Amino acid sequence: MRTLDTLNFDNTYAELPSHWFQRTEPKALKHAHLISFNPRVAAYLDLDPCQTHPQDLASYFGGQMVLPGAKPIAMKYTGHQFGHYNPDLGDGRGLLLGEVVNSKGQRWDLHLKGAGQTAYSRFGDGRAVLRSSIREYLVSEAMYGLGIPSTEALCLVGSEEYTSRLGMEPCAMLLRVTPCHIRFGHFEWLYYSSRHDELKQLADYCLTRFYPECSEADQPYLAMFDEIMERTARLVAQWQTYGFVHGVLNTDNMSILGETFDYGPYTFLDNYDPDHVANKNDDGGRYAFFRQPAIVQWNLACLAQALLPLISREALEARLESFPAKVAEYQLSRQKARLGLQTEQAGDAELISQLWQLFEQQKTDITHFFSELTELSPDELKAEQLQAFTQPDTAAWAQWFKDYQQRVMQEHASEPIRHQQMRSVNPYYLLRNYMAEEAIREATQGDYRLVNQLLPILRHPCERHDAKAQRFLASPPDWAAAICLTCSS
Ligand code: AMP
Ligand code: MG
Ligand code: MG
Repeated sequence: MRTLDTLNFDNTYAELPSHWFQRTEPKALKHAHLISFNPRVAAYLDLDPCQTHPQDLASYFGGQMVLPGAKPIAMKYTGHQFGHYNPDLGDGRGLLLGEVVNSKGQRWDLHLKGAGQTAYSRFGDGRAVLRSSIREYLVSEAMYGLGIPSTEALCLVGSEEYTSRLGMEPCAMLLRVTPCHIRFGHFEWLYYSSRHDELKQLADYCLTRFYPECSEADQPYLAMFDEIMERTARLVAQWQTYGFVHGVLNTDNMSILGETFDYGPYTFLDNYDPDHVANKNDDGGRYAFFRQPAIVQWNLACLAQALLPLISREALEARLESFPAKVAEYQLSRQKARLGLQTEQAGDAELISQLWQLFEQQKTDITHFFSELTELSPDELKAEQLQAFTQPDTAAWAQWFKDYQQRVMQEHASEPIRHQQMRSVNPYYLLRNYMAEEAIREATQGDYRLVNQLLPILRHPCERHDAKAQRFLASPPDWAAAICLTCSS
């Protein structure tokens, strides 16, 4: 076990060409104080939670001190934002503090978000506000709880420093933890600035560090692209299965590890609505829920374009064409799991598609639907049992339940096993916008209890929590529908 002073740093990115980043020290927040700390994530770093003190966390992750062994840098990248190439991106308010190698040999990037201005800040102040930092902190744990790949967060630090966003808002810093902060946009930068030798160097770095198994392939770069695509297909299928809208799927917000990355105005749908646009600034609805698979494919095409100096166009095009079918396949399997269907039977795709059409017609709360469905035994699988969802269009639901009941009979698993399997993928709790809003409102008043209360609930959303968590099982309050999310963060 280690302490904050003795983390095992090995900063390989900082060894790469020096114009790929700028050495930058964090700028301390005024009166930094710890809001929340996640011991589950601390374990990745071999960090002993009992030896990790709130003041030290606030000093190191509020920008006052630099961890021994860290070498903070702002990374250069570019990317496509809302369909347009922007050459002027880079870590404008986050710093890669360094890479920690744990006792299992796993490598973890520590990235301090909100650490002040960098060479890539353009007109920004380099800060992150408490509101968006709480949202990222909570959703990172929620994603873990749902088994959806995501960056994670070690801790959240508040301050008495204010900056202008939606009015004056308090600043915060979040310590993001993931094996990798390399975005599609890192490759795009080297490609569009015609540094093709360096592009190869970055690809080789990624092969060594993240995709060593691809190095053995006949065409290592293509194998790596395949793997990135595979993981990304799996990821977007998970989003579609749980009603997650990312909100800002620009290529600089796409991780080459296939993790959900860079949270802004994301939303878990309360009521299923494929047209939902999470970000009020997204006028054209480019990043609407239903478009996510196609947009992610477009983003992969941007990555493919940037890899043209290394991989043949024909091979990349063929791979990209297979993407929609991959997503559909992963999505079907995740959606079937939510229904407790493990075997493959003719008609499965249709049964699923009918269900999701019903969700769309009736704007169903899918989290509640699956959670309640999980409780029913095979002979209770009737539309009447879930009246709250199946009225008023009972006829269509009755037919669907009849088909589903018959389909369940074809499963081999025993009832308790099937039930257990369904429970493991159907959460009781979901991070709904109103929950984050409440936590933000209270935190803004200096009360951090709700942030800390939500953390274990989101970590284990498929388990029942204590009486205080009871209210999160109910439908969202009416005011939730009026919550307006923007890019402002
Ligand atoms: P995002 O919308 O958070 O993905 O950020 C897009 C780009 O703007 C990235 O290059 C960020 O680093 C930069 N950026 C966002 N907010 C700020 C800020 N407050 N100060 C400086 N740069 C920022
Ligand atoms: Mg971003
Ligand atoms: Mg961002």
